[in-house]
Amino acid sequence: MRLQRFLARSGVASRRGSEDLMTAGRVSVNGQVVRELGTKVDSTKDVVTVDGVVIEAAAEAAYLMLNKPSGFLTTMKDPQDRPCVASLVPRDQYPGLFPVGRLDKDTTGLLLFSTDGDFAQAILHPKHYVWKTYEAIVDGLVQDEELDPLREGILLDDGRCAPACCHVEKYFEQEASTLVEIKIHEGRKNQVKRMLARIGHPVLALHRSYVGCLGLGDLRPGSWRMLTREELDLIC
Ligand code: URA
Repeated sequence: MRLQRFLARSGVASRRGSEDLMTAGRVSVNGQVVRELGTKVDSTKDVVTVDGVVIEAAAEAAYLMLNKPSGFLTTMKDPQDRPCVASLVPRDQYPGLFPVGRLDKDTTGLLLFSTDGDFAQAILHPKHYVWKTYEAIVDGLVQDEELDPLREGILLDDGRCAPACCHVEKYFEQEASTLVEIKIHEGRKNQVKRMLARIGHPVLALHRSYVGCLGLGDLRPGSWRMLTREELDLIC
C-alpha cells in the first residue's frame, strides 16, 4: 500500500498529515528517508519509522463490494427490523464494517463496504472526483439537449449540483421511457432522482454500475466480493 495510507491507517496522522511528514523527511522505510509520495510499502516486511520511532502496521482493513438488490436499506442496523444490507455482507468476519455511502432502498447495484474511514472519505468526498456511474430508466423519451442543464450543473433545493456527465443510452419506445447514463462525483440524498425529476423525467428504476473504475463485473445481485489489491491501488 502507499506509504501515506500505511501511516494514516496506523493512526500516525491523517493522510494529508502523513504526506506532510513524508515531504518533511521525517519518515523512513528500512532506514532510508522517503519523501516520494507514491512510494509503496509492504506492511508485512518493511520497517517504517517516523522520527526514528517504529510504526506498527494496523490490523488489515477490509474492502468489499456488494451488488445491492432492491428492497434493502443501506444501514447496518434497523430498529424496525426491515431488510438491510448488513444481512448480505460478512459483518461477523469483519467487525466495524460499514457501507461507503448509501443507495436508496429501491436502488440496485454497486455498494462498497470497508472498515477504513480514510478509504470512505477518499471515495465519497466530492473534492476527490471519484465518479459514480448510474443507469437510470426515466419516464418519457429524453432528447439529448434536455440533459444540458445537468451537464451545466442544475440547481436543486439544497444548492447547485456539480456538472454531471450524461447521455441517452437507449429508448424503450413501447413504454415511453429512456435509459440514461449519468455520472456524478457528489453524493447528496436522492441526488440522481432529484436531478432527473427536475428536468421533467422522473426516475422509474436506478442502478449504480461503477464507483470510479470499479465495476460489478459478473457479481450477482445479493452477492459480495473482496476488492483486489489492484482495484484498491487504482481507486485511491
Ligand atoms: N441518487 C439517488 O437518487 N438515489 C440513489 O440511491 C443514489 C443516487
